[in-house]
Amino acid sequence: MSQGTNPAASDFIRDIIEDDLRTGKNDGVVAVRFPPEPNGYIHIGHAKAVCLNFGIAAQYGGTCNLRMDDTDPAGESLEFVQSIIDDIHWLGFDWQDRLYYASDYFERLYQFAVELIEAGKAYVDSMSADEIRECRGSFTEPGRESPYRNRTAAENKDLFARMRAGEFADGEHVLRAKIDMAAPNVVMRDPIMYRIKREPHYRTGVDWVIYPMYDFAHCLSDALEGITYSICTLEFENNRPLYDWFVAQLIPGRRPRQIEFARLNVSYTVLSKRRLIELVEKGCVSGWDDPRMPTVAGMRRRGYTPEAIRNFAAAIGVAKNENLVDMALLEHCVRDDLNERAPRAMAVLRPLRVVIDNYPDDKVEELTAPNHPQKPELGTRIVPFAKTLYIEADDFMEDPPKKYHRLGPGREVRLRNAYVIRFERMVKNERTGAIEEIHCTYDPATRSGPPTDGRKVPGVIHWVAAARAVPAEARLYDRLFRVPEPRDDDFTRDLNPDSLVTLTGCQLEAGLRDAAPGTRYQFERLGYFCVDARDSQPGKPVLNRIVPLRDSWAKIAGSGG
Ligand code: ATP
Ligand code: MG
Repeated sequence: MSQGTNPAASDFIRDIIEDDLRTGKNDGVVAVRFPPEPNGYIHIGHAKAVCLNFGIAAQYGGTCNLRMDDTDPAGESLEFVQSIIDDIHWLGFDWQDRLYYASDYFERLYQFAVELIEAGKAYVDSMSADEIRECRGSFTEPGRESPYRNRTAAENKDLFARMRAGEFADGEHVLRAKIDMAAPNVVMRDPIMYRIKREPHYRTGVDWVIYPMYDFAHCLSDALEGITYSICTLEFENNRPLYDWFVAQLIPGRRPRQIEFARLNVSYTVLSKRRLIELVEKGCVSGWDDPRMPTVAGMRRRGYTPEAIRNFAAAIGVAKNENLVDMALLEHCVRDDLNERAPRAMAVLRPLRVVIDNYPDDKVEELTAPNHPQKPELGTRIVPFAKTLYIEADDFMEDPPKKYHRLGPGREVRLRNAYVIRFERMVKNERTGAIEEIHCTYDPATRSGPPTDGRKVPGVIHWVAAARAVPAEARLYDRLFRVPEPRDDDFTRDLNPDSLVTLTGCQLEAGLRDAAPGTRYQFERLGYFCVDARDSQPGKPVLNRIVPLRDSWAKIAGSGG
């Protein structure tokens, strides 16, 4: 499995690490972790953090732990744990035997809290949540001390033990660190360490009715695992002094250093778990792995490759300032990677029947077509040719404009990998006037070259032979939202109503009859498609459109100069 992204990657985090390696700060140890909370599937933003952490470990010969940050029972589940494990493996990274759970540290964290109580650095507060909030002050005003702040250590220990034993209702008490209610940084004003929450935990069941807060649990989990760099997103910048404070009070020796980077935002989608959960629960999408979702599971089902996602992560790099990355860049990375690896095939999405009048009725020719025009090493395949074919309905026009290089009255066109055909006549439905089929003649001399009399045939279209064609369903996916930045409230109103167009009655070339789920193709002139791993059946493929061929990123990047 590939572990790296770009081996020569460089950014401000790697600069810090390289400085430390030079000065011998952590005895040369580079230990990082990826700490997802198993309360949802991971998305492209998490993938960026995965590539960053595992990429750093690989680059500096260090380690990257996978830690389930499961300290809040609400919404956490084994399904999410399993999905995270699968998705990170699929992205190409491995943690060997270093899979950890913050919930495994509950007992130790409890003991750490008791230590702080005994040292006079933590107390049980019995104010309500509202009162605590009111007393916290603001950026301009200091906070006020709780009347419970000066309980004795013995009293605190007793109350905390009884909190654990389940003697109190949710919200009746909390455990707070005793730091400084006048601290300029609001985070340091006696932050909450534990709250009572009577909710079963997917791993510890009903063993606990008190749960540690992120600020208390995360830093100590890092320190317990010997993490040297705790890489997280910018919203934790203000919490860094608290991170350092807890570790300094409780765990001697080498201290992990928290480094913050800008979270990834991508246009035309949403990356907050809360919103992704809402999309799933409201049925706006078919599930976490709906191919329109920005989740790793969704992108994988759609047909994105792990390489493309890793290339994207490398391309956007790591920065200190939040910005919005254009979805077109991600699609560009996908297209770039697929262009190299995806074999070509022919498929007709909206078929129009073509009868070749001068072709023998029962003859089937087996023509040879390259799998990749620039890569002979990808080999060739057999494409059957016969009297009745399908072409794309919009590759014929009854009354075409001058520059239309496809089929129309009096026109010729080349069939990709086959012959030049000439339009002869069309058959219309008597009642509706709709075109039912067209009749053409073919030029047998054009199989492997241009017409011998020197006439020019500029257009090339794709086709499949009707008798051997494989009927299929194609799902044409577009962006999930119709605006680059969906509004905050009521964001579902910005969903793109055309994000999925389902076409039944498509026709694929014969060789795709039993294409394995997950196989990716470039359908010539149409785009990249992937055999859906969930809904395809043998002989009845369902194809997901991964991306169309046109690269809007190349255009954006090009016009930017
Ligand atoms: P949300 O805030 O959307 O509910 P989260 O960020 O809290 O989700 P976690 O499971 O706690 O989700 O995240 C695990 C790790 O992934 C964290 O270290 C977090 O910083 C990182 N991460 C999450 N979202 C992004 C993002 N959009 N870009 C980069 N890193 C991210
Ligand atoms: Mg989080």
